[in-house]
Amino acid sequence: MNSLIKVENLRAVYLVREGTIKAADGISFDVQENSVTAIVGESASGKSTIIEAMTRTLPPNGRLLEGKVLYKGKDLLALKKEEFRRIKWKEIALVPQAAQQSLNPTMKIIDHFKDTIEAHRINWNHDQLIQKASEKLEMVRLNPDAVLCSYPMQLSGGMKQRVLIALALLLDPEVLILDEPTSALDVLTQAYIVQLLKELKKKLNITLIFVTHDIAIAAELADKVAVIYAGNIVEYNSVFRIFKNPLHPYTKGLLGSIMAINADMSKIKPIPGAPPSLLTPPSGCRFHPRCEHAMDICKKEKPPLITVEDGAQVACHLYSQGGRKDA
Ligand code: ATP
Ligand code: SF4
Ligand code: MG
Repeated sequence: MNSLIKVENLRAVYLVREGTIKAADGISFDVQENSVTAIVGESASGKSTIIEAMTRTLPPNGRLLEGKVLYKGKDLLALKKEEFRRIKWKEIALVPQAAQQSLNPTMKIIDHFKDTIEAHRINWNHDQLIQKASEKLEMVRLNPDAVLCSYPMQLSGGMKQRVLIALALLLDPEVLILDEPTSALDVLTQAYIVQLLKELKKKLNITLIFVTHDIAIAAELADKVAVIYAGNIVEYNSVFRIFKNPLHPYTKGLLGSIMAINADMSKIKPIPGAPPSLLTPPSGCRFHPRCEHAMDICKKEKPPLITVEDGAQVACHLYSQGGRKDA
């Protein structure tokens, strides 16, 4: 498989009254064509910031300080606005976090489809629009006759999420990015959306990147998982290896706390402490105040993301030269 997207050293911050929130701090990862990549981490770890920086959708107080997003050899972050607009949606479509709230309550679903083609200067006539919109709605197992003439408030949360996916698919993108596609949905609807995304991936041969705080959903859907902690990727590995042989102490802790939910409650081992403030993150490895393996170097030097056995990538001094590899 070829690398379709290459994110290099992405650094993004938010400017707030108290200072600068270092929300994405040197993010690098490759996305293979036709693969599914999950970006996993706790709340406020910087997952949405990574997606927003990659898709140039940071809010007004967000600043991209550095980095490249190479897509088919072009740096998306360096493209002129007009050129980027051509790629966005037609080649790379995004369903942002909490996008359901962006559906206009006074507009029928058909008008949301219409707005999308107008925003991208597509000249379809009304019949073409209905045909394309219906095709996409059927793909997400919605009845176009009923849904196109509905207002958002007439649809359930799961239906609205499926409408958003259909809207994102309207121009047949090669890459679909979804930020928390299953949050705020009940467990059964979550499972339904995951199943649907699996089917779409198979049917459309699309490349999926999705964000979740739920590692069980990543296990179900992803080929590769990027584990985020406090604005850094701490591990990037195949889903199989993440679960079978996690490398980073944080990944181990994260899995230790969820495995117990399904198995023996007495084995629950929460990670001590709490995630740090990204206004004043810890020096060196941002996980060091909570890590039972922390060494002197961990407080001083940020561990680089390095490739270890079988192509797995990990950012931890235990795996860097000079560190222990046996923990
Ligand atoms: P969640 O799982 O809750 O969606 P997340 O992993 O997507 O969280 P981000 O939304 O990327 O996290 O936030 C990373 C950090 O940046 C957090 O500390 C958050 O409070 C902060 N942050 C996000 N957006 C802004 C903003 N517009 N202004 C100031 N700080 C922000
Ligand atoms: Fe722990 Fe050090 Fe590895 Fe960070 S770099 S996870 S503190 S051992
Ligand atoms: Mg988020």
